[in-house]
Amino acid sequence: MAEKLIISISGMRGIVGENLTSSIAADYGRAFGTFLRNIHTDKKEKLSVCIGRDSRPSGQMLQSAVMEGLCSVGIDAIELGIVTTPGVGIMVRESGCAGGVVITASHNPAQYNGIKLLLGNGIAPPADKAAQIKKIFSDKRFSLVDSPNCGQITSNEQADGTHITKVLAIVDKEAIAAKKFKVVLDSVNGAGGRVTKKLLAELGCKVTAINNEPTGVFAHVPEPTAENLKGLCEVVKAEKADIGFAQDPDADRLAIVDENGTYIGEEYTLALAAKYIFSKKTGKAATNLSTSRMIDDITAKAGGQVIRTPVGEANVAEAMMKNNCIIGGEGNGGVIDLRVGPIRDSLVGIALALQLMAETGKTISRLVGEIEGYYTIKDKFAADASQAQQILNLAKQTFPDAKVNTADGCRFDFEDGWLHLRTSNTEPVMRLIVEAKDPNAAQKYIEAVTAIRSKVSPH
Ligand code: MG
Repeated sequence: MAEKLIISISGMRGIVGENLTSSIAADYGRAFGTFLRNIHTDKKEKLSVCIGRDSRPSGQMLQSAVMEGLCSVGIDAIELGIVTTPGVGIMVRESGCAGGVVITASHNPAQYNGIKLLLGNGIAPPADKAAQIKKIFSDKRFSLVDSPNCGQITSNEQADGTHITKVLAIVDKEAIAAKKFKVVLDSVNGAGGRVTKKLLAELGCKVTAINNEPTGVFAHVPEPTAENLKGLCEVVKAEKADIGFAQDPDADRLAIVDENGTYIGEEYTLALAAKYIFSKKTGKAATNLSTSRMIDDITAKAGGQVIRTPVGEANVAEAMMKNNCIIGGEGNGGVIDLRVGPIRDSLVGIALALQLMAETGKTISRLVGEIEGYYTIKDKFAADASQAQQILNLAKQTFPDAKVNTADGCRFDFEDGWLHLRTSNTEPVMRLIVEAKDPNAAQKYIEAVTAIRSKVSPH
């Protein structure tokens, strides 16, 4: 069955040659360029947009198309080549661009590609602005320019170097290098391989890089989950490495494997980063409502505070900027440190994990063991808008004593755990996440939601 092209807050994602073609990409470039000109009417000089891509073979074609679209509405395009998503975010800010574009489908399988948009602050457009871009795209109301005013294309190869410099600035390079850590890096043949290998070399690590070439021919299913990283776990064991790192194809997400070759789960990536940051100072952290309570425990110990946002990287990044957060991110392995940029960055996660190991002299498994973990169950089920509303209403009646946050669906916090029920932005399903210290408690909440669902009327 042909899938629909998905246009959401973070951009467009589809199957190349089916619903995502170069002509659609060019129109999307025109829509984004028109939008940028609309919001920057005060600027006399030409606007520019940085554009980079992950390693998928269709990336160059889609990048060319988006650049054509941008130029046709009078926007200059700065081509960055194969770079990470955080690398594009950094270059948008460093180059004073009005926006950024990343050609990537993130962790989606190889047949997919996508176009992710960033505003001049390096963050994805908020919902109202994303809706404006989508409307310009679907109405095809483009502000085309004549030949003398067309945008120009230039290239810039500084993204990796700039990115590495910014990440090195947040850690003690000598302290890490003194440990001569043995590291295995699995970049799934995505955009992260080259830059991350260079970063690790700068940090004095002995690196075994697997799936390091940016061919876009993914060596395994690209989402950095346990079942997809068995190869990495084996190499970590065989090499007797201190730690293993896995990135998704655009290198904004990071998963960690400990020195025993055990996958520790993406939720721990942010928890470890927070553990390091809060060992130095106290302040605020931000994360979405679906992320583990581990960060609350770590932050509370340091006398800090956690701000919870609706799901979506841009929501977390905005909350971090607004509240001057010292760390933040998402439970899917996305760490954000504003000193590098307001965007999830696997290189930041790597640097902070190594810094924590170097300073404490502890193994990664021991550091993980110090963080009290939770038992998590994730589920999703079909529910249209009306059923979803009924479920949320019934849930509020079922859990009257819980602390409720309704910023995105409903999150109920209990003494022994929490559950989050929310509707998907892209399909008629509800997502459920339950987390508790004790598996029986988690199961009890799952059963309570099952009972609620059985009371909701079918169509
Ligand atoms: Mg990604």
